[in-house]
Amino acid sequence: MKRPWLDRFRLAAAVLVVCNHTSPLLGVWDGGNFFLTRVLARVAVPFFLMVSGCFLERGGWRTGRLLRRTLAVYLVAVAIYLPVNWYNGGYTPAQWVRCLLVDGTLYHLWYFPAVLLGVPVARALRRLGWPAALAAAGVLYAIGLGGDSWYGLAVRWPPAAALYRAVFSVCSYTRNGLFLAPLFLLLGGACPRLRGRTAAVGLAASLAAMTAEAFALRALGWPRHDSMYALLPAVMVFLFALLQSANAGRDRRAQRLALLVYVLHPGCIVLVRGFAGLVGLDGLLADCNPVHFAAVLAVSFAAAAVLDALRPAPTGGRARAWKELDAAALARNAAAVRAALAPGCRLMAVLKADAYGHGAAACARILRRAGVRHFAVACAAEGVALRRRGVPGTILVLGYTPPAQAPLLARWRLTQTVADEAHALALSAAGTPLRVHLAVDTGMHRLGIPAGDTAALERVCRLPYLRVQGMFTHLPLAEETDAASAAATADELARFYAAAAALEAAGCRVGCLHVQSSAAVRNLPPQPCGLARVGLALYGSGGGGRLPELEPVLAVRARVASVRPVAAGDGAGYGLAFRAARDSRLAVVTIGYADGLPRSLAEHGGRVLIRGRFCPVASVCMDQLLVDVTDVPDAAPGDVCTLLGRDGDGELRAEELAARCGTIPNELLSRLGPRLETARRP
Ligand SMILES: *Cc1c(COP(=O)(O)O)cnc(C)c1O
Repeated sequence: MKRPWLDRFRLAAAVLVVCNHTSPLLGVWDGGNFFLTRVLARVAVPFFLMVSGCFLERGGWRTGRLLRRTLAVYLVAVAIYLPVNWYNGGYTPAQWVRCLLVDGTLYHLWYFPAVLLGVPVARALRRLGWPAALAAAGVLYAIGLGGDSWYGLAVRWPPAAALYRAVFSVCSYTRNGLFLAPLFLLLGGACPRLRGRTAAVGLAASLAAMTAEAFALRALGWPRHDSMYALLPAVMVFLFALLQSANAGRDRRAQRLALLVYVLHPGCIVLVRGFAGLVGLDGLLADCNPVHFAAVLAVSFAAAAVLDALRPAPTGGRARAWKELDAAALARNAAAVRAALAPGCRLMAVLKADAYGHGAAACARILRRAGVRHFAVACAAEGVALRRRGVPGTILVLGYTPPAQAPLLARWRLTQTVADEAHALALSAAGTPLRVHLAVDTGMHRLGIPAGDTAALERVCRLPYLRVQGMFTHLPLAEETDAASAAATADELARFYAAAAALEAAGCRVGCLHVQSSAAVRNLPPQPCGLARVGLALYGSGGGGRLPELEPVLAVRARVASVRPVAAGDGAGYGLAFRAARDSRLAVVTIGYADGLPRSLAEHGGRVLIRGRFCPVASVCMDQLLVDVTDVPDAAPGDVCTLLGRDGDGELRAEELAARCGTIPNELLSRLGPRLETARRP
């Protein structure tokens, strides 16, 4: 049964950590205790790291939020355990620095500095591509292993002994952010998808082998510590793949409880032991035994549950007005566009204007997973924003960038469009090597060097600091299908390809050619180009012609705030522009023109969906709109109102809305404002 197993396993991992720190079978059955606390419990921390790595990978290694949260939790935990540190005799300033930065200020807190260091290390390695990243993290892990459970063997080699002396002058263990964390973070991101049965068999076999490894190492007396085993990465990959194969959705409460138990349980150990001393139950509650373990576990979970219940209510992503992105639809549209391109012509996904209101970073992530490696944006700032969110590959800036920003372009490896010869000269004069694509003007008269001016194109190609990697034109009549427009477009294409051939003949390499936008993919035969710059079609508009019907990617929804009767003849909204022709009911909906809806929607017969039924828009204000719900008698406050997208059998498409209001889907979508929250699809 598919369930949020990844999150639920966090609870099991927290229990294992408590085991590790309470040794429930000590003295009762030593071998069992060793297996439970030194072998099985060793999956807990790597598991937490892999979950983090998995989500970092999905989020394009945007690490800011994770690091900020980890730091905050760590600082709170350090504060909570200050009395314990004090009771234990305190630290010198030098010990404080070392404990805060690497070892953790209490025995279990090492996990937090390990994340704080391990995540940046893993992110840096990830940039090298998977094989190199995993190899490098594996080497770090192997070094850590030699300082941990394989220590006795490693130090027989004098250079290794010297290395570990140096390492242990800085940190007490090698289980930290440099040696242990990067491998598991990266494995979480790279984890192969396995069939459930394969993963289960692999897990059983690798766990048995790791158990043998641990017992053998113990018999040999090699371990200096026992957090790392040679077979632990294999166990983790199979465990993670097994959980992933059965995973669906998230369980945020399990996440929070596991974290709270992790942070609080040492405090609960102190409490249970203190209580045992008070009531004279030392033998039962203060020694390591199953009763003590159960008591600590119960108190830890109770404390976690109480704290979790005291948490302030979250502000949901669906409170007022929000957009939902359909990742699968975006990926299918991308596949449909690619199928319509000439062989060898790759898709350059246009993500300008926040991906036409869809959210550029989220779309880039989805498209990358679908294999897209080329992106285009309108300006340098949009490109930088994508890079900051970890988007690799080519990012072409389609618009003008001031030459003063040449260092910015270089720093973020953005590819700049050359707007004209003067722009090219100024960019080159900035003295920073830049990747550029040449815009060629074949008739649009917007950006580009005139197609006929091959001398200018050639001069630009020979400028010292410009690395020309592409050349393109933008066709003004690609949308039109009448014979005259088609002839004009054919003429533009002929002049573009002639210019490219002339440059080739003059010995100038111009790289990839590209001429097609969505409309040109729909209306023109496949072009002999390396790229096609496609925006709108990816977002589900402009299918037909050589493209199949495309799927809308975005839904926009808001809430019904209030429902009120309006008597026949009464007016409503500014200027009382709405007049009730009959006794009516109006719903107030929490979205308005400041969120990007056209204000003219009411007078143009605009409609929305409530409870799966179409309802006419009565009036659009800045932040709210009025909807006539007379024919939806059960409409009630709290209902979801759909402005774009599906609800039941009804669907509202951007084309319909745009056509009503005399605009195009591009304008409508790109204006959907930042005030719309982004919500996951339910
Ligand atoms: C916006 C833009 C595109 C993408 O156009 P769509 O019609 O959305 O596919 C392509 N090329 C240039 C130069 C653009 O500005």
